[in-house]
Amino acid sequence: MTDSALWAGEHLGRSFTGTHLEDGCPCPKAPCGLIHRDTIRDDCPEHAWQHAKSMRQSHPASRCPAA
Ligand SMILES: [Zn+2]
Ligand SMILES: [Zn+2]
Repeated sequence: MTDSALWAGEHLGRSFTGTHLEDGCPCPKAPCGLIHRDTIRDDCPEHAWQHAKSMRQSHPASRCPAA
């Protein structure tokens, strides 16, 4: 198993609770309101990897509370 397969379907959020930062960003959203790790947009000011900001919430898509 590759790392990309292992992490596919992860939902990430920048806030400790809630989805306030995700609500205003251009990334596609998961049902829970967080963003999909594999569809983060390069032009997103919050989630683009080049900004290297910390992600304070995460869970696998298979354990999404909104699924
Ligand atoms: Zn984003
Ligand atoms: Zn989720």
